[in-house]
Amino acid sequence: MSDNFIPFALPCLGEQEINEVVDTLRSGWLTTGPKTKRFEEDFAKFIGMPHALAVNSGTAGLHLALEAVGIKPGDKVITTPYTFTATAEVIRYLGAEPLFVDIDPNTFNIDIHKLAATLESVSNVKAIMPVHFGGQACDIEAILALARQYSLKVVEDAAHALPTKYKGQMIGNFGDITVYSFYVTKTLATGEGGMIVTANPDYAERIRTMRLHGINRDVFDRASSKQPGWYYEVVAPGFKYNMTDISAALGIHQLQKANAFQQRRAEIATQYTKELTDLPLCTPYLHSESSHAWHLYVIQLELETLTIDRNTFIERMNTAGVGTSVHFIPLHLQKYWRDRYQFEPTDFPIALEVYQRAVSLPIYSCMTNAQVKRVITQVKQILTEAQK
Ligand SMILES: *Cc1c(COP(=O)(O)O)cnc(C)c1O
Repeated sequence: MSDNFIPFALPCLGEQEINEVVDTLRSGWLTTGPKTKRFEEDFAKFIGMPHALAVNSGTAGLHLALEAVGIKPGDKVITTPYTFTATAEVIRYLGAEPLFVDIDPNTFNIDIHKLAATLESVSNVKAIMPVHFGGQACDIEAILALARQYSLKVVEDAAHALPTKYKGQMIGNFGDITVYSFYVTKTLATGEGGMIVTANPDYAERIRTMRLHGINRDVFDRASSKQPGWYYEVVAPGFKYNMTDISAALGIHQLQKANAFQQRRAEIATQYTKELTDLPLCTPYLHSESSHAWHLYVIQLELETLTIDRNTFIERMNTAGVGTSVHFIPLHLQKYWRDRYQFEPTDFPIALEVYQRAVSLPIYSCMTNAQVKRVITQVKQILTEAQK
């Protein structure tokens, strides 16, 4: 890769992040401590929810969320196949089964009508895990209405949706529990990390306990305040999912920039959509009820009018110095999920179709205008040359 290769994604870190990490290192307190507490407080305020719990990945957050709402072996949890495997694997961690529902061809979010039809015909469903694909909100009100009707929990995979608003209200204020990811490619990066948001104090307490070995500090604080500092009580076989203060040091400053970052990504998206007209591709569909975090900018190639397939397009972009990616390889095409449930590719025809045409273009807040222009130029050149 040459120096002027444009990667598909890049974390945008500044001096504030660097200084805060150095401060953390000098303090001698590396694991969960004062910086994590501050990051949680800032995050809760940013979303407008009472409880924010930091963890060491979004995946860990999703696992803890499902555990907290009581998902048990044999339960079914509905999600879509058009997501990262983390969304579904955490269901299996708990011995439960994912039930995939195909996506809407415009938003790539769960298809509400198919969701309703599935709920009518299937028993033992305990929860829905909507994924706000690319940073655009699912039709969350319709999902909540179905959840009420069938007494289901809603755990939102908001790994892409920071910040995203649905009907003017921040995602994180809707479902029972909402989970964010701060993986390096996401809209806010802490290396590895995640955040769990909820209004429910019982869920918050369970998650707080389970993210650190099942140690219940609240029990300790309340009942044993006369105990010495070394004493703690283990109330469950918990996990090791706590966030380090080194990660939180990054998160504190990334969060302060979250809105500015989002504005910059929206500018880039607007530029792409404006410039990539009259080409054999579809630019992202915008839902009227949702804002867009623009974690991803996914184009759909009109393969019928092209002499090349999607993979060749990606290769040519790469040769031209532009990194791209594909979101997502649908889970029902992946070996583990395919074998376990004996899926055929056409079992989820929309997910399959969208996947075959999808290309994610570079979009991150520290992209320069010149880089955005270069991406546009390359897309135009490659597609014009490949037109039938
Ligand atoms: C990134 C991602 C996750 C997992 O987040 P990690 O922090 O990497 O564990 C979960 N779901 C979706 C849709 C993601 O894109």
